[in-house]
Amino acid sequence: MGAGPIGCELAQSFQRLGSQVTLIDMADRVLPKEDADVSALLADVLRGEGIDVLTSHKAVRFEVGAQKRLIADNEGVSVEIPFDEVIVAVGRRAHTESLGLAELGIGLNRDGTVVVDEYLRTGVPNIFACGDVAGPYQFTHMASHQAWYAAVNALFRAIPEVQGQLRRGAVGDVYRPPKSLAWVCQLMKRKRTASMLKSLDTNSHTSIARSRTAKRAASSRCSRSADPIGSSARPSSRRPRAN
Ligand SMILES: Cc1cc2nc3c(=O)[nH]c(=O)nc-3n(C[C@H](O)[C@H](O)[C@H](O)COP(=O)(O)OP(=O)(O)OC[C@H]3O[C@@H](n4cnc5c(N)ncnc54)[C@H](O)[C@@H]3O)c2cc1C
Repeated sequence: MGAGPIGCELAQSFQRLGSQVTLIDMADRVLPKEDADVSALLADVLRGEGIDVLTSHKAVRFEVGAQKRLIADNEGVSVEIPFDEVIVAVGRRAHTESLGLAELGIGLNRDGTVVVDEYLRTGVPNIFACGDVAGPYQFTHMASHQAWYAAVNALFRAIPEVQGQLRRGAVGDVYRPPKSLAWVCQLMKRKRTASMLKSLDTNSHTSIARSRTAKRAASSRCSRSADPIGSSARPSSRRPRAN
């Protein structure tokens, strides 16, 4: 359930391992956050591998009796989908509610992520956050990119010239099957994105593993476009604000 990147890759994995997979999503296409032609290409590939791809199917309830069934609404028509096992891949949330962060004065955004400023500082000056828990992009390469900034700022924040500001940059990702589908977008809105996109070598995505390519897309473009250590970055007096 859920035809985002994780749902699609798990669907394909289990289909290739021998399961008969039905992939459902309430959106009218797989990878609903990507361009429509990317969705169409991937849907063709998944169907070609034998996956039953059901878009515009909104899960309503599960019924577990002699047979397990998912009841879905397909544009006003109730559809029964029998299953043995279900994998729910409809998005991830940071588990931050029970950590006592509010008591420390660390704010949370509506989606559960920790409020940080452009230096990845939380509301408590010596507590930083990076990765999925800080958002906004839940990617391995974004987590490692942020970790570098958070570590440098935590260690050297007393030296303004050394602070790294996570203000500008590009973030990209690559889906492996059937051939890599890549995207890159702005981390924060800046006019330089157009030139970054032009210079991005998209051909390389077809032959390089997802994480390496994505990391390269993110770190080379991001670090060049983000304020590097020792450049114009200056500490901000602003407190972090919720999104
Ligand atoms: C199925 C799946 C596929 C994915 N595929 C990709 C992909 O192809 N490419 C990509 O870029 N990203 C992918 N991601 C996302 C990627 O895994 C995350 O963005 C990345 O792991 C974030 O790193 P992190 O260090 O912020 O968090 P995590 O990797 O989640 O690490 C957080 C760690 O903190 C621990 N922890 C949590 N709470 C506590 C606590 N209270 N006390 C102590 N420890 C705690 C957890 O056990 C965990 O080990 C995928 C995610 C999933 C679920």
